Parts: sequence; C-alpha cells; structure tokens
Amino acid sequence: MKRFSATQNFTVLSDLMRLFSDADEIVYRSFCDLEPDEIATLCRDARRLASHVRLRNPGRKMTDIVRDYGVSVRREEWETPGILFFAECEMSPPLIRLNTGTISALAGLMRLWAPESDLHWFSDETISEVATAHELSHILDPARSPKTRELHAHAFAREATGLPFSPLLYDDLLQRMSKGSEPFRR
Ligand SMILES: [Zn+2]
Repeated sequence: MKRFSATQNFTVLSDLMRLFSDADEIVYRSFCDLEPDEIATLCRDARRLASHVRLRNPGRKMTDIVRDYGVSVRREEWETPGILFFAECEMSPPLIRLNTGTISALAGLMRLWAPESDLHWFSDETISEVATAHELSHILDPARSPKTRELHAHAFAREATGLPFSPLLYDDLLQRMSKGSEPFRR
C-alpha cells in the first residue's frame, strides 16, 4: 500500500490541493490499509450523518450547530510536545476544545502561501468550522472502531462544511509546518 509522506514531492500547493480534492474514496486508499468496500462504507456513513446535520441547519455555522447537540465549544491555546492538532473533544459533558494556536498558525502560514482565490479555505474561521465538525462526528458516533474513526470524522467534516478537499490536507500542511522547513512553493 503506497502512502504519502510529508517528505515526498508534493512541493506545490496546487498539486497538494488537487491530490486532496479527489473523492474521499480515492484519497483514503493512500492513507489506510482498509479494503475499498470498507472505505466506501465509512464514507457513505459519514456523508449520510453529515447530510442530516446540514439539512436540519441550513446556513448555520458548525460552531453554533454543535450547541444544539448539547456540546460546548471552548477556544484555547495549548501545546502537546511533538504533535500539532486543531482540536479535541470530551464526552461527559460534551465539549470541543479548539486549539487557537494551531489554527491561527496554519491560517497565518497560508496567508503567505495560498493564492487569493483559495484563501477562504484556509482562514481561521473555516479551519475552526472543519475542526468543530470533525470533533462533532466523534461525539455523535462514539462507538466507531479506532481503525475507521479518524477517516470517518474527516469525511463527515468535509461534507458538513462543504470543504472542496479532504481535511487531511490540513493535517499534511501541519506536518510540513512542524518540520520547520519551508513547506512548499507556489
Ligand atoms: Zn479525530
């Protein structure tokens, strides 16, 4: 199974965006060892759940929607040595913690690197929305197996927010950032 790594040749942002803009069923083949039918099932489940959430809440922000599910959202900044992540959730009581340090670090970097036409997808607000949706999927579907949990949450977040690429792109960019080198050229 081939895997992408941060050190591979995807040095141009537009190449990365094209790669992660494929359907999740295609993107995920490079990120896990699941069989295609298992990937298809988890993507279908995630999209169905996200569609329900969107249909019930047209035009509303995820950070508002989650409150209807009894989930509080807290914005704070914390560091975990060696790992960068956007958010985490707690179950009882349901709470989503958005890591403002990581979110604004990525948004700040992308203001330098992303073309004007794509900046919206890398704003503080959009990254926060996607991270909130990701954590909501963990809260709505807590019994999911460790093997499919993260991919399900990414597919849910993509569908729930209308992001035109897989949120795995954000993780890829974070990895590049954490390596401390110039992540890519335009
Ligand atoms: Zn997660």
